[in-house]
This record gives sequence, structure tokens and C-alpha cells, in this order.
Amino acid sequence: MNYRHAFHAGNFADVMKHVILTRILVHLRVKPAPFRAIDTHAGTGLYDLQADEAERTQEWRGGVDRLGEPFAPEVEALIAPYRAILATVRQRHGEAYPGSPLIMRELMRPQDRAVFVELHPEDEAVLARRFRRDAQVKVLHLDGWTALHALIPAKERRGLVLVDPPYEEPGELERLAREMAKALGKWPSGIFAGWYPIKDQRDVDGPAAIIAGAAPGKALRLELMIDTPTAPDRLNGCGLFVANPPWRLAAEAETILPALAERLARGRYGGFRCETPAIDSAPAR
Ligand code: SAM
Repeated sequence: MNYRHAFHAGNFADVMKHVILTRILVHLRVKPAPFRAIDTHAGTGLYDLQADEAERTQEWRGGVDRLGEPFAPEVEALIAPYRAILATVRQRHGEAYPGSPLIMRELMRPQDRAVFVELHPEDEAVLARRFRRDAQVKVLHLDGWTALHALIPAKERRGLVLVDPPYEEPGELERLAREMAKALGKWPSGIFAGWYPIKDQRDVDGPAAIIAGAAPGKALRLELMIDTPTAPDRLNGCGLFVANPPWRLAAEAETILPALAERLARGRYGGFRCETPAIDSAPAR
């Protein structure tokens, strides 16, 4: 396990993932019935942007650091909950960036519960310490793929599972799609969000078809590109498969993603995708 999120916290991919995450949670909060939030690859929950790791890569400079100027009002309205969490974190911790567990926790109400899973022993220990006095949160030291199936369906019946693996192993994107498809069979009404990195957008077509097969007409393929979508061997963008998305999420992503693409593009190319993948979307090679 070499991947440490501290090197990447607050980068363009975190911004995209976390803005969409806040939108899903905002929609879950509309109904008073409790929900469960599950994070299968949780990280430490909070990242010091002045620490060695962040200093070395400076990745956050191309992400959260570029959000200073306001966007158009319709975009600001949608990213307001994300901005509010960033402001709270800054107030409490200085130059720091929240991870997905902290974001989930900030948007939970007293009736909601969360389970955060992390396999790296040091990161898990940090995360467990952070939530040790929190009766609404359980932190587990477990393999996230095992946890994904063991923790569902949640007894609340409503909820969100974020699957955010480190992509250290070959074939992890196909694995994400297969595991999400299997999990949907076990919890057909759960909202599942699976993050993936993009070098070449065509690599995503096959996995997108698997997700579409498991949730026909009820899945989204959301992508943010900050560089040419086929430039080899670079992280040119990232995406989220969202199964059972809240009904307004697609329209919101259509507003948010182009604004992020314009703001976060590395050079001249910035792009986005927001579509319901087709079951037969064969790889376009
Ligand atoms: N979800 C976090 C966020 O948005 O703030 C970032 C998570 S990071 C991309 C992936 C995390 O998965 C790392 O903290 C890594 O230690 C952890 N990890 C790696 N393999 C794992 C496994 N098999 N099960 C659970 N966690 C794992």
C-alpha cells in the first residue's frame, strides 16, 4: 500500500469528487428519514496543506487553490455547501483540506450514521482518533472491497456509499464497475458513487456499460477533463459513476462541471461529460 492521499489532497480530482459528494448529501437531507453514509476507502479525513507531502506535489494549487474567485451565481448556489465546509475547516484547522469522511460528517444530521473504512494502519489510526468520541460514526480497519458488501444494505434503507480506491493495481477500474454492479444487486435503492482517474476517456466505456447494465437508466457517468482526453500517461481528468443518483444531480452536474473544467484546466483544454451510459456502449476503439 504505497498510496497516501496526503500528497494529492485538494487537487482537481478531490474538488470534483467532493463537490458532487456534497450535492448528493444535500439531496439526502431533504427527507427527514435517516440515511447512512459509507466511505469504503476513507483516508485520514483531514489534510494539512502546509505539510511536507502537500508541499512536495503542490497539487492543491491546481485544485482548491483556484476556487478563490467566485463563479457565476448559479454555480455558486450549487457549490455553497462545499464552500461552507472549506470555510469551517479553515477556521478550525488553518490551511487544511477536508477529506470525504469529514465532508460526510459535516452534512449529517443527528438521525444519520456513518461508517468509514480505511486499510492503511497509520491512516486508519488517525481517522479513528478523529472520530473516537463521535457516537454517530464508526471507523473500521478493513479491506474496503470486503466492507462494501458486508455493510450493505444499511438498516436505514436510504444512503450513500462512496467507493474511492487508490488505483495502485492494474484493472482497478473494471473492478470498481464489477463491485458496484454486485453491490447494487444487494442494495438496489442505495446511492453508489465510484471515483476513477482518466488518462484516456475511451478506457471508461467498458466499465460504464457494466454499471449501466446493473442500474439501467439509473446511472450517471460524470467526468471532468483538465487536459486532452487522450494524452497518454498523464492524469487528464477524473470521473464518478453515480448509481441511483438523486433526480436533480444530472442537471446540477451540467452546471457545475463546465465551470470547474474552465477554472481547473491545465492548459487550453478543459471538458466535461454528464451522461446516462448505455448498456451496449462498446469501447470506442
Ligand atoms: N476518499 C478519500 C477522500 O476523498 O478524502 C480519499 C481516499 S484515497 C483516494 C484512497 C484510500 O484508500 C487511501 O487512504 C488508502 O490508504 C486506502 N486504501 C488502499 N487500499 C485499500 C483497501 N483495500 N481498503 C480500504 N482502504 C484502502
